[in-house]
Amino acid sequence: MELNENIKSIKGIGEKSEKLFNKLGIYTVEELLCFYPREYDIFGRIEPIANASEGKNIIIEVSPAALPQMIKRGNLKIIQCRMRDAGGSIMVVWFNMPFMMKTIHMGTKYILRGRVINRNGMLELSQPKVLSMQEYANLVGKLRPVYHLTAGLTNNAVAKAVTNALEAVKLDGDYLPADIRKEYNLVPLKKAIKDIHFPAGKKECMEARRRLVFDEFFLFALAMSQLKKNKHVKNSKYIMDKYEYQDRLLAKLPYKLTEGQMNVWNEIKKDLSSGCVMSRLIQGDVGSGKTIVSILALITAVENGGQGAIMVPTEVLAAQHFESFTELLEDMGINVCLLTGSMTAAQKRKARADIESGEVDIVVGTHAIIQDNVVFKNLVLVVTDEQHRFGVRQRESLSGKGDEPHMLVMSATPIPRTLAIILYGDLDISVIDVLPTGRLPIKNCVVGTNYRTQAYRFMAKQVSEGHQVYVICPMVEESENMEAENVTDYTQMLRETLPPSIRIDCLHGKMKPAQKNEIMERFAAGGTDILVSTTVIEVGINVPNATMMMIENAERFGLAQLHQLRGRVGRGSAQSYCVFMAGNASKDIMERLSILGESNDGFYVAEQDLKLRGPGDFFGIRQSGELDFKLADIYQDADILKMANEAAGKFALQDIYSLCKKYDRLKERIMAYTSDIFL
Ligand code: ADP
Ligand code: MG
Repeated sequence: MELNENIKSIKGIGEKSEKLFNKLGIYTVEELLCFYPREYDIFGRIEPIANASEGKNIIIEVSPAALPQMIKRGNLKIIQCRMRDAGGSIMVVWFNMPFMMKTIHMGTKYILRGRVINRNGMLELSQPKVLSMQEYANLVGKLRPVYHLTAGLTNNAVAKAVTNALEAVKLDGDYLPADIRKEYNLVPLKKAIKDIHFPAGKKECMEARRRLVFDEFFLFALAMSQLKKNKHVKNSKYIMDKYEYQDRLLAKLPYKLTEGQMNVWNEIKKDLSSGCVMSRLIQGDVGSGKTIVSILALITAVENGGQGAIMVPTEVLAAQHFESFTELLEDMGINVCLLTGSMTAAQKRKARADIESGEVDIVVGTHAIIQDNVVFKNLVLVVTDEQHRFGVRQRESLSGKGDEPHMLVMSATPIPRTLAIILYGDLDISVIDVLPTGRLPIKNCVVGTNYRTQAYRFMAKQVSEGHQVYVICPMVEESENMEAENVTDYTQMLRETLPPSIRIDCLHGKMKPAQKNEIMERFAAGGTDILVSTTVIEVGINVPNATMMMIENAERFGLAQLHQLRGRVGRGSAQSYCVFMAGNASKDIMERLSILGESNDGFYVAEQDLKLRGPGDFFGIRQSGELDFKLADIYQDADILKMANEAAGKFALQDIYSLCKKYDRLKERIMAYTSDIFL
């Protein structure tokens, strides 16, 4: 079997499961093999019941204290059985597994493995697996892959498919040259791929990961060095010398630009009038006011006779930017249009026609902007917002829509300068280092679930004062459908708990974009008091009247992501609050989360987080999905990034063409990585 074959060639994958894999973006054998586990289930040892704590996965050896009972609630059959070991007892619960009634016998010992939950103040073992002594002995100490799933596809099915693929596929040859592998002490690709899915132990897993992370960074750095070479001080056709629109807009704003914004805007103006193509990154923490700076640049492009485009990662954000741009720019005679994937075919056709004819001055959109059929009349400035959500390739495709247009990219990811120089090596970097004045720092608190009632009371108080609230719902990783259900259930529960006058809405990733937009718009317009949401609201959204955020299961997120999330509040002049609620209040978790309580500064959070983590501490959550990397984490893998950059530096000295002649497979990789931007 070849890597580029359809996954249907893999034993056990038929029409039906093919579709499910497709949903996860997996079409070829290679894509399946590169569908890395999101985490590992580390099969631990038997522990006493006394060690059980909320949220913990535990293995216990117990015997029933009484016969199991079955309770029917609607369609649900609930089996309950109190189990005990030498030191204590716990209630064990199974849903819709009536056969358990016959499986459990008095006087017999069972090994149970499951998650401890808190039901009305009592700890409970929920839906545990029942294992024989033999099964336990086989599994203890093993790492088992846990994959992202979609409804209908089980973890076992993915693992099985990967196993079968690994057996059948030819995986020899390694595109990474042997000398590099040797120098940086990297395991062969074949071993890395095998071990990332089914590691014999932690050590193998870490080595596999290290190799694959190196690859990601190495390819990235090679691409970067080519970009840098190509970009190096290019003359621009678009020299901008008119700057009256900026005065008109600035005069209209209800605020003055901060010094940071002003400095960055001046740097941009210098670029735009310099005669060279601008390639600039604006780095600024959440809420620092990057949008308005990009608007100034965009209208200047329009004033000087061209078109501008801004690409954002989500439909919701595109819709919001479109609204606010239109509101600001309409009376200046500037034509703004929206282009997103969820628009109807007719709407898209109209937008495309207007973009091509030059009727439209500024396009706000998602990836839809870089589709082949979008043609600009005269694109002179492109902006990518929330760049950390895009890959280099997408950013470059946007530029490709014009004839070497000026480029501005914006990111809220706080990264140290040394890393920024590698990751954004082809860009000049501007930093907005202050938040607008008149903002009160967000007040944070890190609490356990016992604080929930108080949090709800506080929420109701915020609402009674005319403010709005976000609740980030617990994450359900197991399946997307469950995520939707979960948000809906939580919302229902909240409606029942809070006074009926409070208007509560919910938002999740499974909704149609149009529906998401509608809900978001209603919230932004103040038509909803509380928005219960998954992390879909994470990027960019701006509702200054929202003053409180409560994040359930905060322990399941990386700190960097929590920081981005909380950036949704504290955007107006009123005092804002963020409640990080840990579903599992263990000491380590509370220590990690408390970093967020110490500071609202993204840099500080990232640094402290790193200090707390030891090498190889990647078995849990991923910090940040920066820049399209699959495994690599720019914070945690900073050392590998530097190494890979150094390695790529050696290569870049050679001519890329002769390099590719010599290393055929590497060429394929670079091509796949960067499309044909520069080869
Ligand atoms: P981000 O940098 O996270 O993209 P935004 O551009 O969305 O931040 O700005 C956040 C909020 O701050 C918006 O409501 C915006 O209108 C407001 N804002 C931007 N600049 C200033 C300023 N200089 N003074 C006061 N408010 C500002
Ligand atoms: Mg923004």
